[in-house]
Amino acid sequence: MSETYKEFLDIWHMIAFYGSFGLLGVSILMYIIYKVRYVAAGSLKAKYDFVSTNEVKWYQWSHFIFAIAVFLFLNQIRQETMALSSVWFFIRLFTAFCLGILYGYVAFLVFKYYYPKPLNKKLKHLRYTPRVNPNNGNQMKLLSEEEEDAYLDEGMQAEEDAFSVDYDVWIDSDTEYVQIEKYKGHLTALECDRCGFQTLKLSKEEILKHPSEYADGEIKKEYECTYCGRIKRQTVRLSRTSTPELDKMGDNMLIDDPLKTTTVPVSVKVEVLSNRGQIKNYEFQNTKEASKFLEEFDFAKLDEE
Ligand SMILES: [Zn+2]
Repeated sequence: MSETYKEFLDIWHMIAFYGSFGLLGVSILMYIIYKVRYVAAGSLKAKYDFVSTNEVKWYQWSHFIFAIAVFLFLNQIRQETMALSSVWFFIRLFTAFCLGILYGYVAFLVFKYYYPKPLNKKLKHLRYTPRVNPNNGNQMKLLSEEEEDAYLDEGMQAEEDAFSVDYDVWIDSDTEYVQIEKYKGHLTALECDRCGFQTLKLSKEEILKHPSEYADGEIKKEYECTYCGRIKRQTVRLSRTSTPELDKMGDNMLIDDPLKTTTVPVSVKVEVLSNRGQIKNYEFQNTKEASKFLEEFDFAKLDEE
């Protein structure tokens, strides 16, 4: 074995050893920092916002960094075998790489497919745990969709009707103290540049020029604010490589109207399936809310996560 190879191995093993423990530390530290920030966020609503925007991101990165730590750690085991031949070095390098990638990929899958469910449960808990009146410590009551309208201004109601924003109204029935919390709705609407509410919705689409194999097309989009009535027109390029959203019709079809029922349900669960295999689940307080939602519903309005 050549001297250079031996020197190289020594340095490599040192870097891999310290690097793996360093990254393990970073990974654990990320987890701890996340937890500290969660506790420091304060109110349940602040915690909700913090968890919904950060938890998956932070946990995922913590695991990815851990995967690199695993890769480095494996790169300094069996040091005597490596000294025999550089072939062993590459075998170890390759195996460590595969195992690191495998760990990272499994973590990715877990966060994409399994984790949303427990996360949702956690968010629901943060959102629906009874609020406490900061002035007298009374437990507050969450108003139903019908009751809350009295406390929301017209713009807020328009946002709720567009399902772009969901407001929770908590009330202390003794003192009439009201606390309003703003949550993201099921559908997206743009923020109106005149009134500032999230009520700007696509109202018309017209293809000015069909995209061909050789040239881009053009589509005219018209947005209307359901609150202040502002109309905004925009011409968007349809790229020649992408399939235009022309065959949007039939994306969401309802066969029957299951919402016409005489019994009073406690909650209404809606599952929407698209012919492209997307499945979306929603929950509503009553059939009226659910039918209003379905009238608004369009797969194109969903947030791409
Ligand atoms: Zn507006």
